[in-house]
Amino acid sequence: MADRTAEHEVSIMPVPFSGGCACGRVRYECTAEPKLMFNCHCRDCQRASGSAYAAVMMVPAAGFRFLSGAPRFHDRIHDDGRVMGRGFCPDCGTPLVGRLSRLPDLIGIRVGTLDDPSWFAPMADFWTSSAQPWDEMNPSVPKYPTQPHPRAEGG
Ligand SMILES: [Zn+2]
Ligand SMILES: [Zn+2]
Repeated sequence: MADRTAEHEVSIMPVPFSGGCACGRVRYECTAEPKLMFNCHCRDCQRASGSAYAAVMMVPAAGFRFLSGAPRFHDRIHDDGRVMGRGFCPDCGTPLVGRLSRLPDLIGIRVGTLDDPSWFAPMADFWTSSAQPWDEMNPSVPKYPTQPHPRAEGG
């Protein structure tokens, strides 16, 4: 994982920040700075987003809370046993958050739901092996054919 500019990039993040779904039922707030920002081009993220990739920001779960409403979760169980839960607004279907069974201390925010998504600065493109030919990626962002497994703390 490229750590190089992470410190610099997160230092300019406006904290706290907020966001919500398209219909306004689900609103959230985050008081912690993002730990990791990336675009995931895997097929699951393509289906769940209806687009070429998911833009995701991982934040400490302790700094994240829902202000109103709550997402419904769809859990996807991978072959290796890890579970990826995708949370979406039960009314309008907006994909809002993701959580990984192996990283319970983090929550992934779908960047398009931020009130101000303009400061997102992806540090990596993951799963470029399944990126679509019409998906134009920023050449200056490091590319990974899959997703390097983050340190699993206690499995
Ligand atoms: Zn909604
Ligand atoms: Zn993905």
